Amino acid sequence: MKAYFWGVLDVYRSYFHIVALVPAGGAGLVSLLITLNIVLGLLPILFIVATSVMIGRVPDAVAGGVGSREWVALVVAFAIAASAFVAQQIVAPLQAALGELLSRRVDGYVFDRLIAAALRSTGIGPLEDQNVLDDLAQAVTTLEQSFWTPGAACSGLIALIGRYTQMLGSAAVVGLVFSWPAAAALVAATMVFRRGQRGGLRVYGRLFFTNIGMWREANYYRATALRAAAAKEIRVFGLGRWLSDHYRQLQTTRLKSVWAERRRIYFAPYLVYTAFGFVVASLTLAALGRTAAAGTISLTQLALGLQAGLATLRLGEHFPEADAQTQFGMLAYDGVEGFERGVAAFHEKTIQLEPRRESRGLPEREIRFEGVDFHYPGSERPVLDHLNLALPAGRCTAIVGLNGAGKTTLVKLLARLYEPTGGRILVDDIDVRSFGVDDWRSQIGVIFQDFNRYELTAAENIGFGAVELIGNRDRIRTAARRAGILTTLERLPRGLDTPLARQYKDGAELSGGQWQRVAIARALFALENGASILVLDEPTAALDVRAEAAFFEKFVDVTRGATAVLISHRFSSVRHADNIVVLDGGRVIEQGSHDELLAANGRYAELFRLQAERFTDDEETEAVNAADLAGDGAVEEEAGTESEAVR
Ligand code: ADP
Repeated sequence: MKAYFWGVLDVYRSYFHIVALVPAGGAGLVSLLITLNIVLGLLPILFIVATSVMIGRVPDAVAGGVGSREWVALVVAFAIAASAFVAQQIVAPLQAALGELLSRRVDGYVFDRLIAAALRSTGIGPLEDQNVLDDLAQAVTTLEQSFWTPGAACSGLIALIGRYTQMLGSAAVVGLVFSWPAAAALVAATMVFRRGQRGGLRVYGRLFFTNIGMWREANYYRATALRAAAAKEIRVFGLGRWLSDHYRQLQTTRLKSVWAERRRIYFAPYLVYTAFGFVVASLTLAALGRTAAAGTISLTQLALGLQAGLATLRLGEHFPEADAQTQFGMLAYDGVEGFERGVAAFHEKTIQLEPRRESRGLPEREIRFEGVDFHYPGSERPVLDHLNLALPAGRCTAIVGLNGAGKTTLVKLLARLYEPTGGRILVDDIDVRSFGVDDWRSQIGVIFQDFNRYELTAAENIGFGAVELIGNRDRIRTAARRAGILTTLERLPRGLDTPLARQYKDGAELSGGQWQRVAIARALFALENGASILVLDEPTAALDVRAEAAFFEKFVDVTRGATAVLISHRFSSVRHADNIVVLDGGRVIEQGSHDELLAANGRYAELFRLQAERFTDDEETEAVNAADLAGDGAVEEEAGTESEAVR
């Protein structure tokens, strides 16, 4: 009984949840749909009443003959029944179409909220938090792939109005013409049937999601088998069979338990509810029959009672337009709400100090990390440990350290994608949290190792460095030229207007090295348009040591005068930087110029020699790649890269 109570409460709680979302469909449309559903619920009752009256009038009409008053009364009843029938045929598709419109509007609103939440996040934190990412994935996949969206839940819920209007209306007819206790018994039997269907769906739904981990894993196998990115390896290693076997095995294991439970969930209750419904229906009909036999009710009343009683009972079924929708449709919305909460929790952590300051033109002297501590949310392990570091304005500082030393984390803090958990970052002695986040970011151009390759035109790929100036073609060309990629881009089918993705008309695919140059042009474009700090976080990591070294050398030239930060895990590729900082375990362990650090004979000297040795050994094989990246004669205009140009 207790479980039953909570079960019912659960259903109503989820209904309230849907009701709160319905207004997103627009007041006018929602009112119209509710009205249509009430009409749709009443029309079958009108049909029943009219046909029953018609049946009742048949004996008199037959006696009166064609053309008599009784005959006309029969024809009128027939006309009303026919009209009710035709009206149903007209209103039902209209209701379905408007329900679809409502569904789309609501889904559009939910998508808008999702996008707004994603963009609201000033930091990157939410998008690196597994729980928040799970919510986001749930929202996106169910919104995009499921039939049962929040919009479908809303129109499904409104469709229930039609069904229940019809159920209660039919029962009321039984009450009026025959007996109210019989009407109540019919409604009870119908609801018990409904409970068997709808309640079973709820239990089944819960069960379906118990093995969600297996489901995700299975989907991963399927997606991997179908993804273009994995196609090469799958073929070379012959993984196709392995992937499809694993997919099938996981799905079968998962579904077998669901299927076994399904029998328990649906079959036994089905028998019990059916028996109950059968007894109530039989008793009611028998009572109706006996009353009719006793002659206490008219033929019309008998027809009404019979038709309305059966119409009530017929509604004790699964409603295909509402049940699954209201059960599963809100999954996506739950995901959106979870994601919003996750984003809000991180958002509150973005600090704005007062008085607010402007960052334009800064730094004039230096950026300083002062005793900065940081650990990622959900982890206690310090990634930056009381870090002290100065980045002089107008100079190029290289930060080197082995993988995991904390270099990228340092850049994320500089760009305020996270806030330090201790200490502060000062720009000419002003705490960076005194600037607005967006204002400060407009001072920084960062190219991360996993920089974006936008499937947009070459010009847009560069222009994104300063999107407000994206229409300035001359400056885009200048940035491209300085990054050494202009000639290559101009030779593409539509020059700078060529989409950088093969799947588009006239689209082109760039090589890895060319993409890096495009990314660098993006950063240079930001620099030319007001940013004063440029950070390169290993965008050259996919290249060999010599190529990276050659590139950095040119880069130091090109960015002379700007506050530049070069990040690398290769000690031997940054020697041209003005200042080299060695990071280890989240702390600065050495710093100075290349010569000073070699003379000091510490960690830098050790790792530099180690890597430089390998670099000399591999020189012959690497020379080809180096020439490719470094370009033939400066970053001004590359030669040598054209050979790998567009396919
Ligand atoms: P580097 O750039 O020097 O290779 P990172 O700054 O990327 O190092 O990472 C420093 C440490 O922080 C590593 O141990 C890494 O595992 C951890 N780390 C990086 N990103 C995250 C994250 N989003 N959540 C938790 N830990 C992270």
